[in-house]
Amino acid sequence: MLLLTWGRDGWSLEAAPRFVGSWGLAVLVFSLGGMAMLWSITSGFTGGMVLGATLATLAWGMKWHAVRRFAGRPSAPFLILLGPAVLLLSVLLGLATSMDDRFVVVCSILAAYGFASAYELRRMPDASQSWPAIALLVLASTLYVSWIPVAVTVPLESVAAAMTSKWLPFVVLATLLLRVALAFMVLSMAKERDEEEQRRNALTDSLTGLPNRRALFEIAESVVERRLHGGGTPVSLIIADLDYFKDTNDTFGHTLGDEVLRLFAKVAQLSLEENHVIGRLGGEEFAAILPGVGAEEAVEVAERLRTRFAESGGFVSGLPVGATVSIGVTADRQVDSGLSSLFRRADAALYAAKSAGRNRVVFIGSDDTVVPVGEGRVVRTSPTRLFARPGLLEFSQVRSA
Ligand code: GH3
Ligand code: MG
Ligand code: MG
Repeated sequence: MLLLTWGRDGWSLEAAPRFVGSWGLAVLVFSLGGMAMLWSITSGFTGGMVLGATLATLAWGMKWHAVRRFAGRPSAPFLILLGPAVLLLSVLLGLATSMDDRFVVVCSILAAYGFASAYELRRMPDASQSWPAIALLVLASTLYVSWIPVAVTVPLESVAAAMTSKWLPFVVLATLLLRVALAFMVLSMAKERDEEEQRRNALTDSLTGLPNRRALFEIAESVVERRLHGGGTPVSLIIADLDYFKDTNDTFGHTLGDEVLRLFAKVAQLSLEENHVIGRLGGEEFAAILPGVGAEEAVEVAERLRTRFAESGGFVSGLPVGATVSIGVTADRQVDSGLSSLFRRADAALYAAKSAGRNRVVFIGSDDTVVPVGEGRVVRTSPTRLFARPGLLEFSQVRSA
């Protein structure tokens, strides 16, 4: 069932389907181990028992590793082989000669992997979702541990005795139930991870990794909502639009244009504080909502962003791009006018910054007075190209006016 599910996902190596697939493979290896043991019993070939037990420990090593990767921890393939190696060594070195000794060693290894798997899930950031799986893993491991005193007090002695032991049906049933329950847990955790990823993708801009327009508006709305009831705490909004970005694209190509957008996103994230949220509104336009930030500080942040971007956008991928940004800023002591009026004023401030020559910050407060803040030199990309196409210059001038 698990392997079929993995196949339906095209044997994908993304975290969720890979988890399902590797768990399925581990279950398969575990089952092969069981078959080897049965074969050993029916044919009388004693080596089959050791082979089966080795496969069982290998399977739990694989399960542990699958959980570890799902939890986002680095791969450690050699540790998968540690359990089987311990078992084989203890057999080869004569440390576990009787059936009972080997049973104890195997149970210990399986329990160790089981507890380690539960631990990996427990330290995952969203561990609250995986508590049923953690509980099942702890239960399975506890069962393995609890069989150790059984093996000691009710010695199996021989394979034949094992087959007629009154514990066998219980052991088989418990293992089977746990295996089925764990398989369902694996499927449900993978499904949840998948849905979470889709939710995140729906709210993230794939080029820059920033929140997209929808996510930004959702966040801004909740910020404004909180401020409305908070009383007296200010909120600021910044809208930034790259200057002459069409020229950048036309001159250096769309791929470099994308690089410039990513650069802006990075500079913006470095220029903002932790609780400020910047998102991509679309194209080369970005907005940041600054909760608890008043006019003065918002303008400082915007000016810092503008100058840093002008510095880092001078050369991109070794090319003299000279990218700059115009920024409109607004702030409200208390957002009683709502989000739309914040956006209207920040937009007007941005338009004023563009009209005044670009690469500058303009602030418009709640009284609608325009305050120009910082200004820098505007470097037009590829002047020769602009001269070659005079219409473009006139177009920009018309828009500025
Ligand atoms: P202004 O200074 O007035 O803002 O001029 P502008 O050229 O930046 O503005 P305009 O709106 O004319 O051009 C925006 C350009 O942004 C046009 C479009 O090709 C480009 N663009 C939008 N989205 C993307 C993108 O994802 N990648 C790239 N490379 N370019 C984009
Ligand atoms: Mg622009
Ligand atoms: Mg634009």
